[in-house]
Amino acid sequence: MIPSTLPCLTVAEGHTIIATVTQFAAPNPESCGEGLVRKARGRKFLIALLICTCFCLGPNALAESIGKNPELMTYRTTGDDTTPPASFYEVLPKALKKRKTVIENICPPSDLVARRILEEYGAIFVADKKVKIPPVCIFTSETQVEKFQDEADYITETIAGADVELQPEAMKALLKAREEAQKEGLDITPRDGPEAARRGYQDSLELWNTRFLPALDYWLSQGRLNEEQVERLKGMPLHLQIAHVLELEKSGIYFSKDLSKSILYSIAAPGTSQHIAMLAFDVNEFLDPRVREILAKHGWFQTVLSDLPHFTFLGLKEKDLPKNGLKSVEVDGQTFWIPNVVGQP
Ligand SMILES: [Zn+2]
Repeated sequence: MIPSTLPCLTVAEGHTIIATVTQFAAPNPESCGEGLVRKARGRKFLIALLICTCFCLGPNALAESIGKNPELMTYRTTGDDTTPPASFYEVLPKALKKRKTVIENICPPSDLVARRILEEYGAIFVADKKVKIPPVCIFTSETQVEKFQDEADYITETIAGADVELQPEAMKALLKAREEAQKEGLDITPRDGPEAARRGYQDSLELWNTRFLPALDYWLSQGRLNEEQVERLKGMPLHLQIAHVLELEKSGIYFSKDLSKSILYSIAAPGTSQHIAMLAFDVNEFLDPRVREILAKHGWFQTVLSDLPHFTFLGLKEKDLPKNGLKSVEVDGQTFWIPNVVGQP
């Protein structure tokens, strides 16, 4: 699919259309509606194709629109607390101090890539002290990831036939949430098997390349990049490669799977995933509001805007998230808790 004007959103002036699009959101924004198309026959095919187009474009376009059109976002205050959320960059140093570290160690302010990662995926850095946070925003090797994962410790459980691994506190909370869901006839199961939870460095690198390499081919074919640029990008040290990709995206040369949005809304940059921190779990049943409610009650929240099945274990009560520097962004009834970036440290 080429990046183009997004039909589902060109008519969207507000939430009504966005809601229409996203209420049918496919579990994975990037594998959207394939089953639907397969099942379609004859006239139904055209209808299914139309719906699928909305499926495909909905969440992706949503992410893009969120990035560009803040007016499409609804900020929700939680419960009776009407105080605005605290500044992420004010809370973060205090949270890190309790863990005897400083922001400069985790994400040097001069490193713009690390800073962008922190602001996209950084909710875990203000998580409850019961969990271990990564020592860096961006891991740079398998050895470094293995060392962290061994120190943080993790446990394995078989959930719906898949062996999934998470930090002990995260797993305990997940199992409790699942038990509660099952009592109500619901379930919480891993999406895409073991990959739903802990991942290694190599996994994150391979996933990056599933977006990065095809995008290079595409932009080369479109004449937006030349052979020399493509070869240079491929041969760059990873950190530089990520920086260049993010820079190219500023001019519309996007690297997500459908080439319509930033790669960061499609896949985490290598070494940066919350799955590496073993604090993330991709949930099949994310569309069910009651499932999301149960997960939230047990400290699991959606914290990466536009990654709908992805839940993060923060181990905090929902009412305490604003004072921990996270703001809620509600899109089509789904609440994302993201760093409230209002100033630089
Ligand atoms: Zn995930």
